[in-house]
Amino acid sequence: MRQGGPPSPSITSREVFASWGKILTGKLPMLSIEITRECPLTCPGCYAFGESHLGGGLTLRDLSDSRGDALVEGVLRLVRKHEPMHVSLVGGEPLMRHRELSKILPSLSARGIFTLVVTSGVIPVPMEWMKLPRVRVALSVDGLPEHHNPRRKPATYERILKNVQGCEFNVHWVITRPMTERQGYLEEYVAFWSARPETNRVWVSFYSPQIGEKSPEMLTREQRAKTVRELVALAKRYPKLAFTKGLGKAFLRPPRNPEGCTFAKVSTNYSADLNTRVEPCVLGGSPDCSQCGCAASTGLHWIAGLKLAGPLKVKHVMHASINARMWANRLRGKSPSDQPARWQSDGTTRAVTNADQTPQALQSDERLVQIAATNSPNEDGRVEAD
Ligand code: SF4
Ligand code: SF4
Repeated sequence: MRQGGPPSPSITSREVFASWGKILTGKLPMLSIEITRECPLTCPGCYAFGESHLGGGLTLRDLSDSRGDALVEGVLRLVRKHEPMHVSLVGGEPLMRHRELSKILPSLSARGIFTLVVTSGVIPVPMEWMKLPRVRVALSVDGLPEHHNPRRKPATYERILKNVQGCEFNVHWVITRPMTERQGYLEEYVAFWSARPETNRVWVSFYSPQIGEKSPEMLTREQRAKTVRELVALAKRYPKLAFTKGLGKAFLRPPRNPEGCTFAKVSTNYSADLNTRVEPCVLGGSPDCSQCGCAASTGLHWIAGLKLAGPLKVKHVMHASINARMWANRLRGKSPSDQPARWQSDGTTRAVTNADQTPQALQSDERLVQIAATNSPNEDGRVEAD
């Protein structure tokens, strides 16, 4: 299980644009599934097994989960229902179900869906997955061995390097406060993983606390700013590090709440019984958005802030699509409770009112979509100089 949540294999602004159509037909383009409640690790502070992850009451360990054909069919049923563009398969430890994954992944790949499997590397990654188009493995590595090994044993450096030998993967790194306090730590980590031939990219998240949390892993504002500066500089020397100035800015200005989070608005998340939802985002519980360091959320937050034309930004189009969908639902007699609560506001705590739902408002939303459609982003995700 990831702290912070790695991005999907190919979140680009081109795909965000392609997701309009999904939203307009009532689909959320990103799907995340905790495919098992089992994990051989006992990482301190693991929020997946935390009391509040599923909103209180039930915890991940209390849920029933499936195996074998029941799991394969259950996952494919959710995929048929939501028709996502991206699927993240997490846990627990998803490789506990590697046999089932070896059936699920080819099926998703054949449907043209991008899939990300997030693993601790404690179980060998099947080599045949490497040949599947649109499938990517993300390896969670929480710092250099001095931090990672005690936290993640038995998934120590020695073991994970053996288990992923010959594979291509993205490293997902959650930066915690102690890592920012030793001079040269960040570069040592980036240099190590950049030098590995198996590493495709290094993705970064910052530790993302729950509301009211006070833990030694949380970064202060100053530490976030210093870390962003350092990562921007490192990315120039280590091209595998996926970090840009624009992304850094997004890390320093996270959404204020789930309603303002593009990632939360375009994703839906299921836990291990394939029925219970994880809300408001993959982190579950009551995440402190103002200190969010989730790579997926931040990546989309950055893309959402890119300019299209004049003052028009990608987020205006995304929110316009959602408003258009809400209006369409109303016309079809669906109640607002049929759609996610986070669709009800634009993140500035302004609730979407009846006035927003008028045909005139819808027309202006459609106009935004049209303008944006004629300003498609470049292949590298740039829309207009930020
Ligand atoms: S590897 Fe297992 S124990 Fe560790 S954070 Fe992920 S789900 Fe939790
Ligand atoms: S809802 Fe909040 S905590 Fe969750 S990804 Fe979005 S900004 Fe981060």
